[in-house]
Amino acid sequence: MSKEKSEMQELEEELSFESKSAWLEDIDEEEVKEFAEDYKEFLSSAKTEREAVEAIRAEADDEGFVSIEDLDSFEEGKKVYAVNREKGIILAKLGEGLEEGAKITISHIDSPRLDLKQKPLYEDSDVAVMDTHYYGGIKNYHWVNVPLALHGVVIDGEGDKHEITIGEEEDDPLFVVPDLLPHLGKEQLKKELKEAIEGEELNIVVGNIPVDDEDVEERVKLQVLKYLDEEYDLGEEDLVSAEFEAVPAIDARDLGFDRSMVASYGQDDRGPSFAALEGILDSEPDKTAIACFYDKEEIGSEGNTSAQGKFVEKFVTELLGLEGVDERYSTMNHVFDSSEVLSADVSAAVNPTFKDVHDQKNAINLGQGVALVKFTGSGGKYSANDANAEFVGKVRRVFNEEDIPWQPVELGKVDKGGGGTLAKFFARRGAEVVDVGFGLLSMHSPYEISSKVDVYSTFKGFRGFFESS
Ligand code: MN
Ligand code: MN
Repeated sequence: MSKEKSEMQELEEELSFESKSAWLEDIDEEEVKEFAEDYKEFLSSAKTEREAVEAIRAEADDEGFVSIEDLDSFEEGKKVYAVNREKGIILAKLGEGLEEGAKITISHIDSPRLDLKQKPLYEDSDVAVMDTHYYGGIKNYHWVNVPLALHGVVIDGEGDKHEITIGEEEDDPLFVVPDLLPHLGKEQLKKELKEAIEGEELNIVVGNIPVDDEDVEERVKLQVLKYLDEEYDLGEEDLVSAEFEAVPAIDARDLGFDRSMVASYGQDDRGPSFAALEGILDSEPDKTAIACFYDKEEIGSEGNTSAQGKFVEKFVTELLGLEGVDERYSTMNHVFDSSEVLSADVSAAVNPTFKDVHDQKNAINLGQGVALVKFTGSGGKYSANDANAEFVGKVRRVFNEEDIPWQPVELGKVDKGGGGTLAKFFARRGAEVVDVGFGLLSMHSPYEISSKVDVYSTFKGFRGFFESS
């Protein structure tokens, strides 16, 4: 028998705002878990920015998108994509003319990892080793003793491209950065965590059999070079023009007795990227919907494949050309000025073991739905995108109208640290931008954790946004 609520209890219910577990909201658990199956497949098959572009392009192909080069006119209902140097991709569903502004999502498809150096291979103590340079903000100690796969692209002396992946098939060999054993780690264990594994100590073990010739100085190294030559027709100099990424050789898996969560590498930011992808594919927008997927966010969005590059300007001006607009460049500025952008990225969810870094009432709890992040940055909102209240209000209305579970959050306690996203790069272009995504445990580690209901809510949030007026 439920107790009758007092007048003040009713008033409390009416006036206060509290985020609740989305699992108990009006949500179809089976649908959530089915969505997660596709999500896991995407994460396991797209472990680099290049692979993500391929996976996104393949899905777009299936849905009838055409390359912008094959588009002859701007017509409502047409679906188009453009690829930037195999590392970035933009999808668009054409709606009303671009002068009306577009609904845009931006996300990144690069993730923290270990890159091979350009001259990586050496031999020491009968072991062949490859030297790495970490990419993005990692805790170095996360990356020792983790099974790694190498995903690479090599341009050889003739200019031919070789794509090589080793470590993903079940009978492939793996690679590992070996740590020091505890028995001899007395000095190492006295070090600060940050120094315990130094960047130069992230070395991958790759071989042990020497060539059978005592006159050769580095016999194990030569054996590895011999293997690269025989197997891939590559020499040591070819590695200079190569991009080899060492990524966890672990597929995405269900996590927890209740299979409520996903553990996987690369959810920052291929998680929200997947939600944005499915959001645009599943939407029927009135305005033109655009989903941008970028590289190089984890190292500051520098370079021609990043969100600071001119890829989106090129895409928009090409569309304006197809629309028959004469003043393409001045109109482009107007397009951004009238556009609305959701910056799709992850944030930190409260880890029950390390709660202290969060202000609980403004923190992400796993399972409370899509996160709405008004501002990012650090310290006094330094370097933040601080979204305008007007736009935050609009996004909130979209979520509420669609019954999408959501939570208003910031990354962590004031002065505990901080971080940024792609949001500010589009705010500079003149658009309204706010960060929207989901929370992770163990963000930037080889195995990040998300809640399936959050991933699903984020997808619904993006779809609702694309379809909103
Ligand atoms: Mn991110
Ligand atoms: Mn990140």
